[in-house]
Amino acid sequence: MSKFCTLFSGSSGNCTFISDGKTNLLIDAGVSAARICAALAEIGYSPFDIHGILLTHEHRDHISGVGVLSRNYSIPVYANVGTIEKTMAITGWIFDDYIHTFKSNEKFDVGDIEIFPFSISHDTVDPVGYTFRFDGAYYSVATDIGYVTETVLKHLCKSESVLIESNHDVQMLNSGPYPYYLKKRILGNKGHLSNECAAHLAAQLVKWGTKRITLGHLSEKNNTPETAYNAAAECFAQNDIKIGEDVMLQVAPKDGICHM
Ligand SMILES: [Zn+2]
Ligand SMILES: [Zn+2]
Repeated sequence: MSKFCTLFSGSSGNCTFISDGKTNLLIDAGVSAARICAALAEIGYSPFDIHGILLTHEHRDHISGVGVLSRNYSIPVYANVGTIEKTMAITGWIFDDYIHTFKSNEKFDVGDIEIFPFSISHDTVDPVGYTFRFDGAYYSVATDIGYVTETVLKHLCKSESVLIESNHDVQMLNSGPYPYYLKKRILGNKGHLSNECAAHLAAQLVKWGTKRITLGHLSEKNNTPETAYNAAAECFAQNDIKIGEDVMLQVAPKDGICHM
């Protein structure tokens, strides 16, 4: 049976699971290997069942567990050259045999799953989001997107279920404890997507046919699940989109399985 769920989502660590029933993949491994193994057990999988870990970019909240996972359980890691090099400087060596590099914006397959890594705007060397296709349906993961580029829209608009970033409430961020340089970075074009921008993206995608929207990668200091959900719900109401009828809307918890 196919499965698409977040195991961890937020500024403290990210890991998403996707399976077509035969090939099982993780997107990012941004908490410890032990915590990822425990989360996998909750959905009935062992790390030995994982056929690949796909990296989005080299920030710690996306890679901190990948070295141990790959070395201990012989899991292949898929990433572009820039990302894998930066990643290994932090997580230690990954055996050559287990490194599979791809070019951003070029399709590749793992098992029967078609994978489209698309460029996103973020302050790392070569960051990507992913769209997956199997059994005739598309699924997408797009977090750490500074702003919604045409490339992002083009890839997400095919998907029936998407995980999109809803990182911060702009007012909470501006009045919050972060130093000025960090606020500027988060708000910048290579930072993170605000609730407001995520809401507009979500509404656009629903109009184009997306059935399930999951808001993820919430900031712990500058957002709450309710604030993120309400921003999208408000934007849906303005666009005459009915939650429950036209779309399923949910917020991924920072720790805990969220089926998408
Ligand atoms: Zn990042
Ligand atoms: Zn991140």
